[in-house]
Amino acid sequence: MDYVFEPRKKVPVFEEADVIVVGGGPAGISAALAAARNGAKTVVIEKFGALGGMQTQAMSSTFSLLDPAIQGGVITDIINRLKAEGGLLRDRSAQTRRSAFTSTNFDCEVYKAMLDDMMTEAGVKLLYHTTGVGAIREKNALKGVFIECIQGRFVILGKVIIDSTGNADIAWKSGALCMDDGHGRGPGKGRHMGLGCRFYISGVDNEKFEKFKRENPEEWKGLYGGRSLVRKAKAEGKYHGYRESLIVHASKPGIAMIEGFNSPLAEGHHGWMIEDITAGEMDLRKQVWSAFKLLKNNVPGFESSSVEKTGTIPILRDTHRILGEYVLAEKDIYEGRAFDDAVVVSNMGPDIYGPDGEHVYEVVRPHDIPYRCLVSKNTDNLLAAGATISADFYAFAADRYCAPSMCTGQAAGIAAALAASLNVTPRELDVNLLQKTLRKQGAPVSVRDLPADVLEAYEQRYQNNRQITDL
Ligand SMILES: Cc1cc2nc3c(=O)[nH]c(=O)nc-3n(C[C@H](O)[C@H](O)[C@H](O)COP(=O)(O)OP(=O)(O)OC[C@H]3O[C@@H](n4cnc5c(N)ncnc54)[C@H](O)[C@@H]3O)c2cc1C
Repeated sequence: MDYVFEPRKKVPVFEEADVIVVGGGPAGISAALAAARNGAKTVVIEKFGALGGMQTQAMSSTFSLLDPAIQGGVITDIINRLKAEGGLLRDRSAQTRRSAFTSTNFDCEVYKAMLDDMMTEAGVKLLYHTTGVGAIREKNALKGVFIECIQGRFVILGKVIIDSTGNADIAWKSGALCMDDGHGRGPGKGRHMGLGCRFYISGVDNEKFEKFKRENPEEWKGLYGGRSLVRKAKAEGKYHGYRESLIVHASKPGIAMIEGFNSPLAEGHHGWMIEDITAGEMDLRKQVWSAFKLLKNNVPGFESSSVEKTGTIPILRDTHRILGEYVLAEKDIYEGRAFDDAVVVSNMGPDIYGPDGEHVYEVVRPHDIPYRCLVSKNTDNLLAAGATISADFYAFAADRYCAPSMCTGQAAGIAAALAASLNVTPRELDVNLLQKTLRKQGAPVSVRDLPADVLEAYEQRYQNNRQITDL
């Protein structure tokens, strides 16, 4: 690659804050609410025009494995508020300890409007259509974030920066140590999980489709369906996709949600390389239209349907994440390890879209996420939350999910507010104070906080369903 030099220029200061949250997905939402509720002047920078991240931009409007014994605090407020505003479409939290996988779904339009209100009520300053493009670094410490928006290029000065971009965008661009590792085991080693998406179909007679499913259990029982339909169409060269089945849910009346798509990345290709992202988007769009035509032409209920909506962004899955003071490891999540500096409990197992089209979900024991996974190893004033925390491939494949992301966001938000008010760096913060504050605000911080009957139910679940390849 050739290079040119960018001219130096004076950049105006747009704002000064205690806490800057870059990225308004599930992790950024709870980081911002937690920081502001704990007294910090908080600014959120979000590239798109709504909060929710993949939950709203990629239509992953769901919280998997929600369990009130495991997750608490901000996430509970959000679920309760969704319920009160009629936005909770399906609550499966009561089944979580018995089933391998459950999802609690919500209406993403209700969610977007509700989150605007919650941010306003908490006093968070939101900047939509604004991208964090880099950070001010003085020696080992970050002092602010450069932003670009329609108004121009500015800087926001801040005491603590939370990278909740889903791909460690700010950490990476500020020179903080980051990691990425490909598929950890098996023939795909060295390759990445690939890009994924969901889409909606409208004009669906869901009752007719559900009846058809009940009458054809061989073909449609379980989460995945349309097995022989997809296989036959693939063999005849009439279907473009890597899986041998589809996931089709009735969403709202007349609407079906289709998911489970993956555009694999060959060795040497990555979810942070723009040409690979572009190729992945185009490939996913082909898969979407291929699946839609298959359903419309063959499946009762879809005769008069049309594609309603595809996502604004694909799921980029394993891109960058920070290298923290500790890297959460595969064995930690299978063993259900407790840590003295735990700040989050997670019940999520690795959900792996493998490089060759396979999908495996592995059940693990509830496990702790230590504070050190949120703290950058070489950069002061930088915390990670959500899919950017320091974890190996398997721990990342688990704890990138929405509920753990919201919980690491909450821990990062409170840590940032405490660090800013005490004038210490996040690394210097007394973790006991953080844990005490989290517990006081309704969040269990460690598996050691869980009642014996809850742990026993999860142990049963672990023994019964270790690895699931067809949910
Ligand atoms: C198709 C699909 C299916 C999924 N299924 C499930 C499921 O069933 N259950 C589940 O729990 N999870 C599921 N997930 C995963 C889940 O959505 C993510 O793991 C989760 O959203 C991660 O949260 P996050 O806040 O860390 O990042 P994200 O949700 O990625 O949010 C990051 C936010 O940061 C913004 N951003 C990025 N860079 C910048 C920047 N430089 N400046 C400003 N803003 C920036 C983005 O616009 C985005 O809003 C799925 C995801 C997809 C797309």
